[in-house]
Amino acid sequence: MDAAPTQDASNRDAADQPAVPVLRVTGLSYAYGKTKALDDVSLELSSGRVTALLGPNGAGKTTLFSLITGLFDSRQGAIEIASHAIRRARSKALAQLGIVFQAQTLDLDLSVEQNLRYFAALRGLPGGTAQQRIAALLEEIGLTEKAKAKVRTLSGGQRRRVEVARALLDRPALLLLDEPSTGLDISTRRWLVEHIHRIAREDGIAILMATHLVDEVMPEDDLLVLNKGRIVARGPVEQVIRHSGGADLDEAFTRLTAKGEAPS
Ligand code: ATP
Repeated sequence: MDAAPTQDASNRDAADQPAVPVLRVTGLSYAYGKTKALDDVSLELSSGRVTALLGPNGAGKTTLFSLITGLFDSRQGAIEIASHAIRRARSKALAQLGIVFQAQTLDLDLSVEQNLRYFAALRGLPGGTAQQRIAALLEEIGLTEKAKAKVRTLSGGQRRRVEVARALLDRPALLLLDEPSTGLDISTRRWLVEHIHRIAREDGIAILMATHLVDEVMPEDDLLVLNKGRIVARGPVEQVIRHSGGADLDEAFTRLTAKGEAPS
Protein backbone atom coordinates (compact mmCIF):
# COMPACT_ATOMS: atom_id res chain seq x y z
CA MET A 1 0.00 0.00 0.00
CA ASP A 2 2.83 2.35 0.88
CA ALA A 3 4.82 1.51 -2.21
CA ALA A 4 2.99 3.72 -4.67
CA PRO A 5 3.19 7.02 -2.74
CA THR A 6 6.87 6.41 -1.94
CA GLN A 7 7.67 5.82 -5.58
CA ASP A 8 5.68 8.89 -6.60
CA ALA A 9 7.61 10.98 -4.11
CA SER A 10 10.98 9.76 -5.37
CA ASN A 11 9.94 10.40 -8.98
CA ARG A 12 8.87 13.86 -8.01
CA ASP A 13 12.20 14.45 -6.27
CA ALA A 14 14.04 13.35 -9.42
CA ALA A 15 11.86 15.59 -11.57
CA ASP A 16 12.51 18.51 -9.22
CA GLN A 17 16.28 18.25 -9.72
CA PRO A 18 17.43 20.84 -12.23
CA ALA A 19 18.69 18.95 -15.31
CA VAL A 20 22.44 19.16 -15.79
CA PRO A 21 23.09 20.92 -19.12
CA VAL A 22 24.76 18.71 -21.74
CA LEU A 23 26.87 21.67 -22.81
CA ARG A 24 27.80 24.57 -20.56
CA VAL A 25 29.92 27.42 -21.89
CA THR A 26 30.82 30.16 -19.43
CA GLY A 27 32.41 33.54 -20.17
CA LEU A 28 34.23 32.29 -23.26
CA SER A 29 36.38 34.74 -25.23
CA TYR A 30 38.81 34.16 -28.10
CA ALA A 31 40.91 36.40 -30.32
CA TYR A 32 43.00 35.87 -33.45
CA GLY A 33 45.76 38.37 -32.74
CA LYS A 34 43.90 41.66 -32.44
CA THR A 35 40.66 40.32 -33.97
CA LYS A 36 38.22 39.47 -31.20
CA ALA A 37 36.19 36.52 -32.52
CA LEU A 38 34.26 35.65 -29.33
CA ASP A 39 33.54 38.01 -26.50
CA ASP A 40 32.27 36.66 -23.16
CA VAL A 41 29.96 33.99 -24.57
CA SER A 42 27.89 31.89 -22.15
CA LEU A 43 25.31 29.28 -23.07
CA GLU A 44 23.69 26.06 -21.88
CA LEU A 45 22.14 23.26 -23.92
CA SER A 46 19.71 20.63 -22.68
CA SER A 47 19.22 17.08 -23.91
CA GLY A 48 16.56 16.44 -26.53
CA ARG A 49 16.58 20.02 -27.83
CA VAL A 50 17.79 21.53 -31.08
CA THR A 51 19.46 24.91 -30.67
CA ALA A 52 20.05 26.89 -33.83
CA LEU A 53 23.15 29.07 -33.71
CA LEU A 54 22.35 31.88 -36.10
CA GLY A 55 24.85 34.46 -37.11
CA PRO A 56 26.05 36.31 -40.20
CA ASN A 57 29.44 35.57 -41.77
CA GLY A 58 32.23 36.33 -39.34
CA ALA A 59 29.95 36.23 -36.27
CA GLY A 60 32.18 33.65 -34.55
CA LYS A 61 30.26 30.39 -35.10
CA THR A 62 33.18 28.36 -36.42
CA THR A 63 35.46 29.72 -33.70
CA LEU A 64 32.94 28.64 -31.05
CA PHE A 65 32.79 25.15 -32.58
CA SER A 66 36.58 24.94 -32.72
CA LEU A 67 36.73 25.69 -29.00
CA ILE A 68 33.96 23.22 -28.07
CA THR A 69 35.66 20.46 -30.08
CA GLY A 70 39.01 21.19 -28.46
CA LEU A 71 40.70 22.25 -31.72
CA PHE A 72 41.41 25.64 -30.15
CA ASP A 73 42.04 26.46 -26.53
CA SER A 74 41.12 29.61 -24.65
CA ARG A 75 42.30 30.72 -21.25
CA GLN A 76 39.28 32.99 -20.96
CA GLY A 77 36.19 31.05 -20.02
CA ALA A 78 35.19 27.43 -19.53
CA ILE A 79 33.51 24.65 -21.50
CA GLU A 80 31.89 21.57 -19.96
CA ILE A 81 30.37 18.69 -21.90
CA ALA A 82 28.17 16.41 -19.78
CA SER A 83 29.83 17.94 -16.70
CA HIS A 84 33.37 17.18 -17.94
CA ALA A 85 35.53 20.28 -18.24
CA ILE A 86 37.26 20.23 -21.60
CA ARG A 87 40.54 21.47 -20.06
CA ARG A 88 40.73 19.05 -17.15
CA ALA A 89 38.95 15.98 -18.58
CA ARG A 90 39.41 16.37 -22.31
CA SER A 91 38.93 12.71 -23.34
CA LYS A 92 35.83 12.27 -21.20
CA ALA A 93 34.35 15.51 -22.51
CA LEU A 94 35.12 14.73 -26.16
CA ALA A 95 33.80 11.16 -25.79
CA GLN A 96 30.34 12.73 -25.40
CA LEU A 97 30.63 14.72 -28.60
CA GLY A 98 29.63 14.03 -32.20
CA ILE A 99 30.38 16.54 -34.94
CA VAL A 100 29.51 17.18 -38.56
CA PHE A 101 31.98 19.68 -40.00
CA GLN A 102 31.13 22.20 -42.68
CA ALA A 103 33.65 20.70 -45.10
CA GLN A 104 33.37 17.12 -46.33
CA THR A 105 35.60 14.86 -44.21
CA LEU A 106 35.06 11.29 -45.45
CA ASP A 107 37.78 9.24 -47.13
CA LEU A 108 36.64 9.13 -50.75
CA ASP A 109 38.56 5.94 -51.59
CA LEU A 110 37.07 3.89 -48.78
CA SER A 111 33.59 2.41 -48.85
CA VAL A 112 30.82 3.83 -46.70
CA GLU A 113 31.15 0.89 -44.30
CA GLN A 114 34.96 1.19 -44.14
CA ASN A 115 34.71 4.88 -43.29
CA LEU A 116 32.31 4.10 -40.47
CA ARG A 117 34.30 1.10 -39.22
CA TYR A 118 37.50 3.13 -39.17
CA PHE A 119 35.86 5.85 -37.12
CA ALA A 120 34.29 3.28 -34.75
CA ALA A 121 37.76 1.80 -34.18
CA LEU A 122 39.19 5.26 -33.44
CA ARG A 123 36.47 5.73 -30.83
CA GLY A 124 37.26 2.31 -29.32
CA LEU A 125 33.91 0.68 -30.13
CA PRO A 126 34.10 -3.13 -29.93
CA GLY A 127 33.79 -4.82 -33.37
CA GLY A 128 30.40 -6.45 -32.80
CA THR A 129 28.84 -3.31 -31.35
CA ALA A 130 30.25 -1.24 -34.20
CA GLN A 131 28.84 -3.62 -36.80
CA GLN A 132 25.36 -3.52 -35.27
CA ARG A 133 25.44 0.21 -34.87
CA ILE A 134 26.63 0.75 -38.46
CA ALA A 135 23.86 -1.48 -39.83
CA ALA A 136 21.21 0.35 -37.77
CA LEU A 137 22.47 3.80 -38.75
CA LEU A 138 22.76 2.95 -42.45
CA GLU A 139 19.15 1.82 -42.35
CA GLU A 140 18.14 5.02 -40.57
CA ILE A 141 19.74 7.17 -43.26
CA GLY A 142 18.41 4.98 -46.09
CA LEU A 143 21.84 3.92 -47.38
CA THR A 144 22.01 0.22 -46.51
CA GLU A 145 22.44 -0.72 -50.16
CA LYS A 146 25.39 1.69 -50.43
CA ALA A 147 27.40 0.09 -47.59
CA LYS A 148 30.01 -1.36 -49.97
CA ALA A 149 30.07 1.62 -52.35
CA LYS A 150 33.11 3.89 -52.40
CA VAL A 151 32.25 7.31 -50.99
CA ARG A 152 33.59 8.84 -54.22
CA THR A 153 30.58 7.38 -56.07
CA LEU A 154 28.00 8.96 -53.71
CA SER A 155 26.17 12.24 -54.23
CA GLY A 156 26.89 15.21 -51.94
CA GLY A 157 23.63 14.57 -50.09
CA GLN A 158 24.45 10.88 -49.54
CA ARG A 159 27.92 11.78 -48.25
CA ARG A 160 26.40 14.20 -45.78
CA ARG A 161 24.04 11.47 -44.56
CA VAL A 162 27.03 9.23 -43.94
CA GLU A 163 28.72 12.02 -41.98
CA VAL A 164 25.63 12.38 -39.80
CA ALA A 165 25.63 8.60 -39.20
CA ARG A 166 29.34 8.70 -38.34
CA ALA A 167 28.77 11.48 -35.81
CA LEU A 168 26.11 9.34 -34.10
CA LEU A 169 28.06 6.04 -34.05
CA ASP A 170 29.23 6.39 -30.47
CA ARG A 171 25.85 7.66 -29.19
CA PRO A 172 27.00 11.17 -28.28
CA ALA A 173 25.15 13.29 -25.72
CA LEU A 174 25.95 16.39 -27.78
CA LEU A 175 25.92 16.76 -31.56
CA LEU A 176 27.44 19.81 -33.27
CA LEU A 177 26.59 20.60 -36.88
CA ASP A 178 28.47 23.41 -38.59
CA GLU A 179 26.28 24.70 -41.41
CA PRO A 180 25.45 21.12 -42.38
CA SER A 181 23.30 21.94 -45.40
CA THR A 182 25.94 23.96 -47.28
CA GLY A 183 25.88 22.92 -50.93
CA LEU A 184 22.99 20.48 -50.59
CA ASP A 185 19.88 20.42 -52.78
CA ILE A 186 16.49 21.30 -51.32
CA SER A 187 15.25 17.75 -50.75
CA THR A 188 18.46 16.70 -48.95
CA ARG A 189 18.34 19.88 -46.86
CA ARG A 190 14.76 19.08 -45.87
CA TRP A 191 15.70 15.48 -45.00
CA LEU A 192 18.65 16.68 -42.94
CA VAL A 193 16.66 19.22 -40.94
CA GLU A 194 13.88 16.70 -40.25
CA HIS A 195 16.39 13.98 -39.35
CA ILE A 196 18.24 16.26 -36.94
CA HIS A 197 15.02 17.10 -35.13
CA ARG A 198 13.97 13.45 -35.02
CA ILE A 199 17.22 12.28 -33.41
CA ALA A 200 17.05 15.07 -30.82
CA ARG A 201 13.51 14.02 -29.92
CA GLU A 202 13.92 10.25 -30.06
CA ASP A 203 17.49 9.79 -28.80
CA GLY A 204 17.51 12.72 -26.36
CA ILE A 205 20.63 14.26 -27.91
CA ALA A 206 21.41 17.96 -27.41
CA ILE A 207 22.03 19.47 -30.84
CA LEU A 208 23.76 22.72 -31.69
CA MET A 209 23.39 23.60 -35.36
CA ALA A 210 25.18 26.60 -36.81
CA THR A 211 23.37 28.10 -39.76
CA HIS A 212 22.60 31.37 -41.43
CA LEU A 213 19.47 30.01 -43.07
CA VAL A 214 16.41 30.94 -41.04
CA ASP A 215 14.23 28.43 -42.89
CA GLU A 216 16.17 25.60 -41.21
CA VAL A 217 14.92 26.69 -37.80
CA MET A 218 11.74 25.03 -36.54
CA PRO A 219 9.22 26.76 -34.25
CA GLU A 220 10.01 24.40 -31.35
CA ASP A 221 13.77 25.12 -31.45
CA ASP A 222 15.85 27.28 -29.18
CA LEU A 223 17.83 30.07 -30.75
CA LEU A 224 21.18 31.66 -30.09
CA VAL A 225 21.90 34.69 -32.22
CA LEU A 226 25.59 35.53 -32.44
CA ASN A 227 26.80 38.81 -33.86
CA LYS A 228 30.38 40.09 -33.86
CA GLY A 229 31.38 37.53 -31.24
CA ARG A 230 28.57 38.28 -28.78
CA ILE A 231 25.27 36.56 -28.12
CA VAL A 232 22.67 39.22 -28.93
CA ALA A 233 19.53 37.10 -28.39
CA ARG A 234 18.63 33.70 -26.99
CA GLY A 235 15.57 31.63 -26.14
CA PRO A 236 12.65 29.89 -27.84
CA VAL A 237 12.13 31.04 -31.43
CA GLU A 238 8.80 32.76 -30.74
CA GLN A 239 10.25 34.71 -27.81
CA VAL A 240 13.27 35.91 -29.78
CA ILE A 241 11.04 37.12 -32.61
CA ARG A 242 8.74 38.94 -30.16
CA HIS A 243 11.59 40.63 -28.29
CA SER A 244 13.23 41.75 -31.52
CA GLY A 245 10.06 43.53 -32.67
CA GLY A 246 10.30 41.74 -36.03
CA ALA A 247 7.34 40.15 -37.80
CA ASP A 248 9.10 36.83 -38.41
CA LEU A 249 12.47 35.17 -37.86
CA ASP A 250 13.91 36.63 -41.04
CA GLU A 251 13.12 40.15 -39.89
CA ALA A 252 14.19 39.41 -36.31
CA PHE A 253 17.57 38.14 -37.56
CA THR A 254 18.07 41.24 -39.71
CA ARG A 255 17.24 43.55 -36.80
CA LEU A 256 19.39 41.66 -34.30
CA THR A 257 22.43 41.62 -36.55
CA ALA A 258 21.93 45.05 -38.12
CA LYS A 259 24.87 46.52 -36.25
CA GLY A 260 27.18 43.86 -37.64
CA GLU A 261 29.52 44.31 -40.54
CA ALA A 262 28.21 43.67 -44.00
CA PRO A 263 28.36 39.94 -44.78
CA SER A 264 31.47 39.07 -46.72
P1 ATP B 1 31.20 32.10 -41.45
O1 ATP B 1 29.71 32.01 -41.38
O2 ATP B 1 31.69 32.99 -42.53
O3 ATP B 1 31.88 30.76 -41.42
P2 ATP B 1 31.68 32.43 -38.60
O4 ATP B 1 30.46 32.93 -37.90
O5 ATP B 1 31.95 30.99 -38.54
O6 ATP B 1 31.66 32.93 -40.11
P3 ATP B 1 34.39 32.79 -37.67
O7 ATP B 1 34.96 32.07 -38.84
O8 ATP B 1 34.42 32.14 -36.35
O9 ATP B 1 32.89 33.27 -38.00
O10 ATP B 1 35.16 34.21 -37.57
C1 ATP B 1 34.98 35.12 -36.49
C2 ATP B 1 35.94 36.29 -36.68
O11 ATP B 1 37.29 35.85 -36.57
C3 ATP B 1 35.83 36.98 -38.04
O12 ATP B 1 36.07 38.36 -37.85
C4 ATP B 1 36.94 36.34 -38.84
O13 ATP B 1 37.41 37.24 -39.84
C5 ATP B 1 38.01 36.13 -37.77
N1 ATP B 1 38.84 34.95 -38.06
C6 ATP B 1 38.42 33.68 -38.22
N2 ATP B 1 39.47 32.84 -38.44
C7 ATP B 1 40.58 33.62 -38.41
C8 ATP B 1 41.97 33.36 -38.55
N3 ATP B 1 42.44 32.11 -38.75
N4 ATP B 1 42.81 34.39 -38.45
C9 ATP B 1 42.37 35.65 -38.24
N5 ATP B 1 41.07 35.97 -38.08
C10 ATP B 1 40.18 34.97 -38.17
